[in-house]
Amino acid sequence: MLGGIQPQPLAHASDGTLPLDVVEAAIKPDDAHFARTRLLCLENTWHGRPMPLDYLADARALCDRRGLGLHLDGARLFNAAVAQGVPVRDIARHFDSVSVCLSKGLGAPVGSVLLGSAALVAQARRWRKVTGGGMRQAGILAAAALHALDHHVERLAADHDRAARLAAALSALGVEVTGQHTNMVFVQVAPASTASLVEHMARAGVRLSPGSEGKLRLVLHLDVDDAGLKRVVDAWAGFRG
Ligand SMILES: *Cc1c(COP(=O)(O)O)cnc(C)c1O
Repeated sequence: MLGGIQPQPLAHASDGTLPLDVVEAAIKPDDAHFARTRLLCLENTWHGRPMPLDYLADARALCDRRGLGLHLDGARLFNAAVAQGVPVRDIARHFDSVSVCLSKGLGAPVGSVLLGSAALVAQARRWRKVTGGGMRQAGILAAAALHALDHHVERLAADHDRAARLAAALSALGVEVTGQHTNMVFVQVAPASTASLVEHMARAGVRLSPGSEGKLRLVLHLDVDDAGLKRVVDAWAGFRG
């Protein structure tokens, strides 16, 4: 409402990309009846999937050709870079602006940053003030974020490895694993037994937040080590749904 923005969600393809022909078809004609189409927003990773690098280049080309800005919701940008074995710059360079979460996988206690040109960040600071988002004495949090950037990026590979091991272990228990990408594992359980699974796991000290219709997303991060992984698998193995 504050930005006068009218979002237009588009369906993802199964590889997590927004097909660029669908994006292009959604660009509104220059007509007073329509909102002006100004910005394409992508998310990387999406449901844990890193976006193909050549897709990002193609998206950039489309935005250049049609006069759109390109923003990345890169909450898990570092997971994508580590999984693809590229410097984060190889992903970020296609975008005009990027947001990154320093908590989540990177393990800082709180915090996200918006990256862009000096002019964009100056404008963003103004909007942050307008929306009451300013925070004083935030340096202590910034220090934790710098620590995360210095020490917790390469280790994301360990989360990805644990996610693969968790997926394999749950599959071996007969759990329906519907996907595993980077640090995320998706499983489908019988909707009727979800509540008893959540209760059973809670007794073992593992808290699950059930999604709708028995869909669960399990996410690995800095605070889940091999012992934690084992605890989840052992507890699940003891579940008689
Ligand atoms: C967590 C998350 C955000 C928001 O992060 P904040 O820390 O609240 O800024 C945005 N996009 C995705 C995909 C996320 O997972």
